Amino acid sequence: MKIEETLVLIKPDGLRKTHEIILKYEERGLKIKKMFLSDATPEKLAMHYAEHIHKPFYPELEQDMMEDHVFVMIVGGENAIAKVRKINGATNPSEAEAGSIRGDFAIPGQSLSKNLVHASDSYEAAQREMEIWV
Ligand code: AMP
Repeated sequence: MKIEETLVLIKPDGLRKTHEIILKYEERGLKIKKMFLSDATPEKLAMHYAEHIHKPFYPELEQDMMEDHVFVMIVGGENAIAKVRKINGATNPSEAEAGSIRGDFAIPGQSLSKNLVHASDSYEAAQREMEIWV
């Protein structure tokens, strides 16, 4: 049994579903260890999305992330890193399975940057992203 903590951001487009998103994690045995409202800035986003900064979609992603607040959460529990990503569903909401956050709550046909949530994809990413946001 591997108890982990991971960083989740409820993106601005996910705020309307904050309650339902939290329930998805809790119903699967994960715990919200910390949660607070914050705001993305160009500086935070440049660190957070360092591998995407030169990609064509980055300006749109940056704009969408600063359109409203973000909910920063630390989610903990057994295999939390992989579990949270499974609960989130595929990055592209149109490919996300029913029952996942993106599968159930994303609005079809929107940009890929509007996929409601972000979660760390590894232990190293979780440590790095917690330094940025928490
Ligand atoms: P990650 O996969 O966590 O590194 O984050 C990449 C994020 O960039 C995804 O969650 C999407 O929100 C966003 N993204 C990826 N591809 C596109 C795209 N083609 N257009 C807009 N946003 C994108």
